[in-house]
Amino acid sequence: MNEKKSIPVLYSRREECCGCTACYAICPRGAISMMPDEEGFKYPQIDKKKCIGCGMCIKTCPIKNAKRNSRID
Ligand code: SF4
Ligand code: SF4
Repeated sequence: MNEKKSIPVLYSRREECCGCTACYAICPRGAISMMPDEEGFKYPQIDKKKCIGCGMCIKTCPIKNAKRNSRID
C-alpha cells in the first residue's frame, strides 16, 4: 500500500494563492475544494484520494505562472 502519486502543492504560504479558483475550475477530477480560512478567504484544498497528479492545477495557476510569464513583449 505504497501509492506513489505526486500530489501538487498549490501554495505553501497564503501569499502564493490569491484564491482565484482557476485550479478548482480546471481540475478534471473535482479534487479541489475552496475552503474558507478563519477570515473567510477561500483557499484550495486537494483531496488526495481524488487527485491523479495530472498537474493541470499547477499549470493553470496564475501566481505560479506569473514568474514565467512576466516577460510580455
Ligand atoms: S493534479 Fe490534477 S487531479 Fe490533482 S488536484 Fe491538480 S488538477 Fe486535480
Ligand atoms: S489557481 Fe493558484 S492562485 Fe488560483 S486558487 Fe488555485 S492556487 Fe490559488
